[in-house]
Amino acid sequence: MATQRIGQSDAGAGRSRGRSGENVVSEPGETSAAAVGQRRLGKTGLSVSLLGFGASPLGDVFGLTDPGESNRAVHLAIERGINYFDVSPYYGLTLAEERLGKALAGRRGLVTLSSKCGRYGGDEFDFSAARITAGVEETLRRLGTDHLDILLAHDVEFAPEEQIVEETLPAMRRLVDQGKTRYVGISGYPLGMLGRVAEAVPIDCILTYCRYNLLTDDLNGRLLSVTERLGVGVINASPLCMGLLSDRAAPGWHPAPARVQEAARRAAEYCRGRGLSLARIALRYCLDHPGVASTLVGMATSAEVEENLSALEEPVPAEALAAIREILAPVRNYVWPSGLAENADGWDDGVSGEDAGEGKS
Ligand code: NAD
Repeated sequence: MATQRIGQSDAGAGRSRGRSGENVVSEPGETSAAAVGQRRLGKTGLSVSLLGFGASPLGDVFGLTDPGESNRAVHLAIERGINYFDVSPYYGLTLAEERLGKALAGRRGLVTLSSKCGRYGGDEFDFSAARITAGVEETLRRLGTDHLDILLAHDVEFAPEEQIVEETLPAMRRLVDQGKTRYVGISGYPLGMLGRVAEAVPIDCILTYCRYNLLTDDLNGRLLSVTERLGVGVINASPLCMGLLSDRAAPGWHPAPARVQEAARRAAEYCRGRGLSLARIALRYCLDHPGVASTLVGMATSAEVEENLSALEEPVPAEALAAIREILAPVRNYVWPSGLAENADGWDDGVSGEDAGEGKS
């Protein structure tokens, strides 16, 4: 049985762009190629666009996509100033990496590129040094590049913490020394483990997902104090809570229980009735977070790129935001289980949930 908490509150040419390294290069509100905001990622030399391109949909994770259209989406995003792209061998079981690699042909030098290691299937995890090292070579081949900008250990909660600290990250650091990646980090869902790993071993960034959005915002309390103190960059993924905060039906594998999905549907209805887009409001809400370097939204069409860029232009209407928060209040900060029980943080703190799932991101 799942449980819940309620009421708690992804260089070479990439280096040649002459990025300023300023903390904030520009602000939301401008969408020309020169003006999509960028922020420095922690202490790295990378400046990532406030709006990042999550490439998991290219692996048909959220439904079938058209490769021609997703190619156009990638090209449009780059033209419009989105410079950060994230992918993983897990997305579509290598399909997303293959497709992103093709779309980036001739454009690799224009983007900051993260991919991942350690998760290779729904239930296929291997965080051993040998697999990490071999896996990166496969990833580089699929992406058509000789190096990543960021390599993330993917969903670290599915491995013993000790292995991530003592074996996986040291192997990833060796890949930095070999020029296979410029920086390393971790991704995952339980915030406590992400913070503990960051304290135990030097990492450059953390990608976490579904922990800061209109439904759940416990990223603020738990992890950010650690990352700020250590100078670790934060990437906030899944601003639409993996598709839930939109007009579209959530994917069948979505781990949120029915009542959370129902609340999101009511919020979407509220917005539709007023000519508003819940997706755009949900995205802008995340983009406004000052402590997050990049907000990663999954996209596979030019229309999504256009709509999501438009979120930078329009502030969240205060009245609508208040109404949406009220609709979502009964399910606020619902957290589903993910990973090994020993890596759980806090879902045994009193409130039961249901429908545990494993997700596809
Ligand atoms: P998301 O919240 O970004 O939602 C993506 C879904 O919303 C897709 O179906 C997409 O087609 C749809 N969408 C995008 N823009 C829309 C719009 N304007 N209107 C309506 N629907 C829209 O979830 P995500 O894709 O899971 O997260 C973003 C990215 O973050 C992923 O692609 C991946 O790169 C990364 N991520 C990483 C991890 C991890 O490392 N563990 C976990 C989750 C996400």
